[in-house]
Amino acid sequence: MSSVIIEKIKQEIANLDTTAAPQSVGTVTSVGDGIAEIDGLKDAQMMEMVVFDGSDNKSLEEVIAADNALYGLILNLEEDTVKVVVLGESTHVKEGMRVLRTNKLLSIPVSESIVGRVVNPLGEAIDGKGELTGKKDMPIERVAYGVMDRSGVDEPVHTGIKSIDSMIPIGRGQRELIIGDRQTGKTTIAIDTIINQKYEPADKRPICIYVAVGQKRSKTASLMAKLEEAGAMEYTTIVATSASEASPLLFLAPFAGAAIGEYFMEQGKDVLVVFDDLTKHANAYRQMSLLLRRPPGREAYPGDIFYLHSRLLERSAKLSQELGGGSITALPIIETQEGDVSAYIPTNVISITDGQIFLETDLFNKGIRPALNVGISVSRVGSSAQTKAMKKVSGKIRLELAQFRELEAFMQFASDLDEETKARIESGRKYVELLKQDQNDPMPFYRQVMVIYAANNGLFTGASVEDTKAIEEAYLSFVERDRKDILDTIETERALSDELTAQMDKSITDFKEANSKFYAEAA
Ligand code: ATP
Ligand code: MG
Repeated sequence: MSSVIIEKIKQEIANLDTTAAPQSVGTVTSVGDGIAEIDGLKDAQMMEMVVFDGSDNKSLEEVIAADNALYGLILNLEEDTVKVVVLGESTHVKEGMRVLRTNKLLSIPVSESIVGRVVNPLGEAIDGKGELTGKKDMPIERVAYGVMDRSGVDEPVHTGIKSIDSMIPIGRGQRELIIGDRQTGKTTIAIDTIINQKYEPADKRPICIYVAVGQKRSKTASLMAKLEEAGAMEYTTIVATSASEASPLLFLAPFAGAAIGEYFMEQGKDVLVVFDDLTKHANAYRQMSLLLRRPPGREAYPGDIFYLHSRLLERSAKLSQELGGGSITALPIIETQEGDVSAYIPTNVISITDGQIFLETDLFNKGIRPALNVGISVSRVGSSAQTKAMKKVSGKIRLELAQFRELEAFMQFASDLDEETKARIESGRKYVELLKQDQNDPMPFYRQVMVIYAANNGLFTGASVEDTKAIEEAYLSFVERDRKDILDTIETERALSDELTAQMDKSITDFKEANSKFYAEAA
């Protein structure tokens, strides 16, 4: 076990009030693979820290005071025994050794200064930019807020991704799963969402937390470089664990992310947490559970894996006004094998989230990126949080794409199509083009509204499908240059008045007049 954990726990225990609760004492009955089984620890809790004692009769205070005190973390509660991960040299633990409860759950110190930093699951800086000073100990594991403490989701988290913000809107406090096979752009969606928060007004900008569970170090490093380059590290914390680390550390990472999020949520702030990814998390838990010798369940995962993930995701919430109105939005990521969403872990996480963004290899390879399957992706709560402006323009795009999908399937069999069907298909293709988006180039919602409105109102009529992207770009720069006032109004009003749409209509006509090169057919 890494020495940082030991240091951390020593520190925590040094601050303990050892006179408080009557301590209970247990005995090691077996030890192996870094796991010790202990008899006699009454009322011990999950995630509680214990300390091993080589003598026969020392008090908790005395044991803790020793330089070589050896700690354990309770990870299994059984009827008569508990199992702990030894946080240190497990060969020093012997059968028959005394074990004392500390009455303290593992927690991590958090303060404002954690923003902009890379930390391990114990909240310690690992970016070489100096030590962090914690202000408040946040428990790693805790019961989520209840229904009475929460309020409805009513404000959007803008991802900056057109297909998501228009059709699968996410609200603050929501849990939206990003799911897909390897290399389908899952992480990119999460990162672009974090980058897009820079377009939010400073007082509305969520604190972002990216939790890397067992990711390659090089991946996490390049991801951080991207965030830094985009100016997004200023409001982001990375909780990093790599594939080479011990499974209990990987297991703790998402909980640490949630704990950091709760620190800010409880101050009334909005938080966005990305768990990348819960498949690796489940695997770490499985590995750890094998060491704990728990009976394996379905697909060899321990039986409580569902409960574990639901407890984690339940911690994302939108708090009531009385509790400050803060929120945690969670974007868990799940990796599937060959698109199989009916495997154990995917079905679990699907059932405990408020919607899913499905990414598909086929679409990705066809160049439709983000590779979002709009047909089966859903958001169950976000539409109540969507801005009025976006709501107004998104209905048509959804309908057009649905019709297009139907026709596309049919098209394969039909040899000659009537004019109307051809026109429908062409229009659908233009929407598909419009929704393609480069990575690390999120678009603020007011620009999205502008261009989707224009698409609905003839911007692409008379132009070829191939020119869609070029027209989109040209139109947005035209608007930025000549009609910035419209963009500003959408940004502040977040709604489209008749007066405003009249101006938008005019901007389309003006643009088409000035750019006749795109509209050969019409001319
Ligand atoms: P993994 O399964 O390895 O975690 P992932 O599903 O998280 O992969 P990403 O790492 O986000 O996928 O993206 C995979 C590759 O596709 C990367 O090389 C990325 O640069 C590229 N990519 C992702 N999104 C886009 C996009 N919108 N446009 C172009 N390229 C993209
Ligand atoms: Mg990834």
